Amino acid sequence: MFLVNLNLAGMILSTHFITGAALASFSDSVVILFCSALILHFVLDAIPHWEYLDEFDEIKQKWPLVAIDILLGPSLILFSIVGLYGFDWLKIWPFLFSGAVSVLPDGLSFLHFMLPQNRLLEKVFVFHEFVHNKKNLSFKQGFLFQIVINLVFLLAIFLLPKG
Ligand SMILES: [Zn+2]
Repeated sequence: MFLVNLNLAGMILSTHFITGAALASFSDSVVILFCSALILHFVLDAIPHWEYLDEFDEIKQKWPLVAIDILLGPSLILFSIVGLYGFDWLKIWPFLFSGAVSVLPDGLSFLHFMLPQNRLLEKVFVFHEFVHNKKNLSFKQGFLFQIVINLVFLLAIFLLPKG
């Protein structure tokens, strides 16, 4: 298949979700969260990193990992926010919103593979690939690096409580 050599993702999805969600510690504005979460996605992709999917076709074998990765970010964030503020939807939604927006570019890459004819999705994908750092870290370095990033952003959520 022609897709085989394309690089699918950047950082893992849970890293994108957690880092994006942390932005809601600073703002509740939909516009600010949307823009900053998107920018943060591409900034993180531009840093050398490790990822478990190199090719789109790998999703078939690695789907349990993908499923865990999809669920881990929102679960950790929901757990943290409810722990901090209780079940207060007004506090919860900005975190889930900016987390989801931060994962969006990878969702669009997935859609591009499903709908290769769509020109807009192709343009977004080409930009995504352009920004994406081509140097991959080893599993050890890269995994540790993403754990550190996630801890820092999670810590920010706890240290910067919303008023
Ligand atoms: Zn990406």
